Amino acid sequence: MKNIIVQKFGGTSVGSTERIAHVAKIIEAATKNSKVIVVVSAMSGETDRLIELSKSFSSTPNKREFDALISTGEKVSASLLAMALESEGISAKSYSASQVSLRTTSQFSKAKILDIDKQRMQKILEEDNVPIITGFQGITEGGDVTTLGRGGSDTTAVAIAAAVDAKRCDIYTDVDGIYTTDPNVVPSAKKLEQISMEGMLELSGQGAKVIQIRAVEFANKYRVPVRVLSSFSEGTGTMINLDDNNMEDAEISGIAFQKNQTKVTFTAVEDTPGIASKILGPLSDADIQVDVIVQNVGIEGKTDFTFTIDSDEKFLLDRVVPIIQESINYKDILIDNKIAKVSIVGVGIRSHAGVASKAFRALAEHNINIGMISTSEIKMTIVIAKNDLEKAVRVLHDEFELEK
Ligand code: ADP
Ligand code: ASP
Ligand code: MG
Repeated sequence: MKNIIVQKFGGTSVGSTERIAHVAKIIEAATKNSKVIVVVSAMSGETDRLIELSKSFSSTPNKREFDALISTGEKVSASLLAMALESEGISAKSYSASQVSLRTTSQFSKAKILDIDKQRMQKILEEDNVPIITGFQGITEGGDVTTLGRGGSDTTAVAIAAAVDAKRCDIYTDVDGIYTTDPNVVPSAKKLEQISMEGMLELSGQGAKVIQIRAVEFANKYRVPVRVLSSFSEGTGTMINLDDNNMEDAEISGIAFQKNQTKVTFTAVEDTPGIASKILGPLSDADIQVDVIVQNVGIEGKTDFTFTIDSDEKFLLDRVVPIIQESINYKDILIDNKIAKVSIVGVGIRSHAGVASKAFRALAEHNINIGMISTSEIKMTIVIAKNDLEKAVRVLHDEFELEK
């Protein structure tokens, strides 16, 4: 089958029955030239509401039931959208992840897609109706429902596009493309006509939630052309460029940030070989993603060991600390959840030493204190107070003149 397009609609795009009716019109227009497969998110705010509800009986709800619960929002929007299309005279059918056999690993809340039953998809495509598939979720070998992490509907869409060899995957959202930073934080941010795969991997990897990092990784691996555009306004959006990995002309491609971070410090640990692995090993076994890591210079055989995690994973830490306690001595654990990370992304980082000093000077001039710094080939991440985050994003965006 030729010319298949996958269209994914995010939470705000299906946020009300009026929006759903509008989305039905977008789908209807696309069906004139292509076979369309639709992937939907839950109506905006719904996943948050379900997460809150899950804490009714325990702050650490059963993981299987948690995923079973928070995956339900997408079922509602998929069925409503099918009804909206039917009312426009277009036959449509909603499908849950299990109905299309979208199999995942069994890590609840951060499951990874393993495969999609291609024969089943083929059959669905041969039927004369628009398939609407629930995003964000899958099913394990044993038949349990899993979810793919926040923002995971993007990944469902790209994975389905890869499975059916779609011509393109269109991610419809509430902004009209990918910008040099979040346009809701910096109104002067510049919309990009296209962005290199390398640049998008870094922006999403550092927190730009406009598209989930795993979706970008999938697009890169399976060479799926992905476009990000608005369901609220007309326009061609931003293409993620699969071929051109040459960002040489853009010294800094964008500023990304992560708001919801926690800093953890083990104080006065023994400054001996193996300490880092004794702390980080159990964290990794518990599937906690650790980012910026700093070990201070040792004084009299003792040192402080600090790292950041996503605040959503803090409850997992409580389970790991007793394991760490068995293998190392330390004085205290300090937990600070009032921090955030801001990252400057671009090839300029690797080739121009001046980027760091320019960033630090600009932040200092605006009284923004730097907590920790980590750099890689094409990004620099700075840990700051959460209160300073939006200001820092604006200051750095201005300093590197990204609006131009
Ligand atoms: P959806 O519900 O459609 O998946 P999201 O809220 O997950 O939408 O993602 C869209 C949001 O991503 C935008 O409203 C914007 O605030 C944010 N965003 C962050 N970084 C960027 C960026 N570089 N370009 C565009 N939007 C961004
Ligand atoms: N509904 C899910 C979430 O809010 C998935 C998504 O929107 O992509 O994270
Ligand atoms: Mg999203």
